[in-house]
Amino acid sequence: MAKRVLETFVSKGKYEDRTDSTIFVGCSMGSCGPHNERFLKWRGCKLADRILVPGSVGSFVKDPNRYEDIRFLSKAHDVKLILAIQHLRCAFYLDENNQLPVEIYERQMKDMGIWTQEVKLINPHTDIELYYQEPNQDERLAFRPLYR
Ligand SMILES: [Zn+2]
Repeated sequence: MAKRVLETFVSKGKYEDRTDSTIFVGCSMGSCGPHNERFLKWRGCKLADRILVPGSVGSFVKDPNRYEDIRFLSKAHDVKLILAIQHLRCAFYLDENNQLPVEIYERQMKDMGIWTQEVKLINPHTDIELYYQEPNQDERLAFRPLYR
């Protein structure tokens, strides 16, 4: 790979030093990114704090130290709403043979339940919305609400 000369990039649009008092928790998978941004705009939370990690909430269940990020942001940004998303065929759930387990959806839902309980202990007054991301028949990405 050719070495690139680094230069300053200046973003378009004015910088706003505020948040929407919202946290968005999702998988770090790059192809989800542009769709997540559209979802956050649609949901009215363009300035949500993002926590993007492989496996989304599954990563928190595997490493409970990650809850510190929720604890910190809840306090620092007076968080009122947390949006969490799991997605179809998430590589975080690959088994030792690099295969997605048949019961992946059940495991993701179990992790959502564990994660939700922990987050409610951290911030009992925060609303939590859970979504599952999967392509529609027309290959556009749908964000389906999960009701608890
Ligand atoms: Zn993923």
